[in-house]
Amino acid sequence: MTQKPHITVAHGDGIGPKIMDACLEILEAGGAQFEIETVEIGEKVYLRGNSNGIEPDLWESLARTGVLYKAPITTPQGGGYKSINVTMRKTLGLYANVRPTRSFHPFVRTKHPKVDLIIVRENEEDLYAGIEHRQTSEVYQTLKIITRPGSERIVRYAFEYARRNHRKKVTCFTKDNIMKMTDGLFHKIFDEIATEYPEIETEHMIIDIGAARAATQPERFDVIVMPNLYGDVVSDITAELTGSVGLAGSANVGEKVSMFEAIHGSAPDIAGLGIANPSGLLMAGVMMLVHMGQTQAAERVHNAWLLTIEDGIHTKDIFQLENSTRQVNTDNFVKAVIERLGDFPKKLAPVSYAHGVTLPKAQPANIVKLGTHKKELVGVDLFLDWQTADGRNPDELAEALKKVDSGDLDLIMITNRGQKVWPHGHPDTFCTDHWRCRYQVKGDTATIVHESIVRLLHNMSEAGFDFIKTENLYRFDGQLGFSLGQGQ
Ligand code: NAD
Repeated sequence: MTQKPHITVAHGDGIGPKIMDACLEILEAGGAQFEIETVEIGEKVYLRGNSNGIEPDLWESLARTGVLYKAPITTPQGGGYKSINVTMRKTLGLYANVRPTRSFHPFVRTKHPKVDLIIVRENEEDLYAGIEHRQTSEVYQTLKIITRPGSERIVRYAFEYARRNHRKKVTCFTKDNIMKMTDGLFHKIFDEIATEYPEIETEHMIIDIGAARAATQPERFDVIVMPNLYGDVVSDITAELTGSVGLAGSANVGEKVSMFEAIHGSAPDIAGLGIANPSGLLMAGVMMLVHMGQTQAAERVHNAWLLTIEDGIHTKDIFQLENSTRQVNTDNFVKAVIERLGDFPKKLAPVSYAHGVTLPKAQPANIVKLGTHKKELVGVDLFLDWQTADGRNPDELAEALKKVDSGDLDLIMITNRGQKVWPHGHPDTFCTDHWRCRYQVKGDTATIVHESIVRLLHNMSEAGFDFIKTENLYRFDGQLGFSLGQGQ
């Protein structure tokens, strides 16, 4: 007898344990073959004193199974422990988050009956780097990190997904009119990789109009790829407008491990009531079975679920008098799906996994080799916490800074919240206590060494300035590797 593959299962928080049991029951009744290794992550682990909310046996189990089926977990807002979800995605390199959204018209009420789109969200970078600092009394900062290897991997994944699944178009959302370097890189890479997929139509939209169109005309999209934060927000919007966030599942794909979860959270407002919709986690389970090559079981479960929805047997979140026949709790929804195993929907299109809908395999990142680029140090942005008893006059700051010996560097600009305030600032610009003072070497080809910055910092310290951080200014292959100040 062949051994069943093992999967790692985490029951999560809030509605998590209830919907996970529901989904495992349906998947097993549908013929899925797996042995379960149960692990604990989430609030309970954290409250036991494990500050990252993850029991170490999770990593050991995942090294054996390579598959994590995970219910939602609670993450405190504003403070407390770091998001376990983000930790998991980053630790395991689950860089591709695939979130399909489909409408089930006329069985689930939606203003958008023809939605069938896939969001491919970058899952490790962007503002989710989680590098945050308080720098002055007034100013807090988070770093947005976009990398070439990370962007290449996710954009290629989106195109591969489109090619394998006969999708026609890939759209990219960024905000590169404002974040010209970070989102600009993502967009540039999208354009580069698009040339390798000539059969696929491509388009780029600025995220604001893109999100607006995704909310009002979602049927015009096919596959959409975007950086982490935009993907998180837009995929909730598109899931909700097909009826409920409770309907959508997602895959988080990495080279060694893949994780399957609902896109919604732990829904603490309905935890313990027995009314949660297990559909999102079930659809994630179907994606997991496809990933494991168990396409027959995936097909049976998915079609039985479609028929249940079509028969109007609905949990409270999607129940509508005009479309539903029976409002059921989680347990009765499970029973209804199991009763329909082996049947197909009559009006909604049945799914077939025998030849289609596959998740592309994760690919290793392309590392930029040492020495590929000529990198020259040309200056430094020095960030200061500064104000005087009389206020915050940038001209006064510039005068004080000019008294400090800056060696081969010249003070060329001061900005406040990115806006140039010296030289020739505007008197109406509001200034906080957080100043960026740009020091650059004279001449277009001149360079400096780290020592120049160290000396400048030493002299600043002697003069009593409170510098809170520095950011080196580089030229890469003769091009400036930093943005100009707003108004410069
Ligand atoms: P949420 O998705 O948990 O809930 C939003 C709303 O949708 C609530 O009204 C909830 O009752 C409803 N809802 C969600 N899933 C449902 C389902 N399956 N059936 C019926 N109704 C459902 O979002 P939130 O309230 O912003 O977050 C709650 C917690 O979940 C937070 O701690 C958050 O950090 C966490 N969270 C976890 C994940 C994850 O584990 N992947 C994802 C998102 C949020």
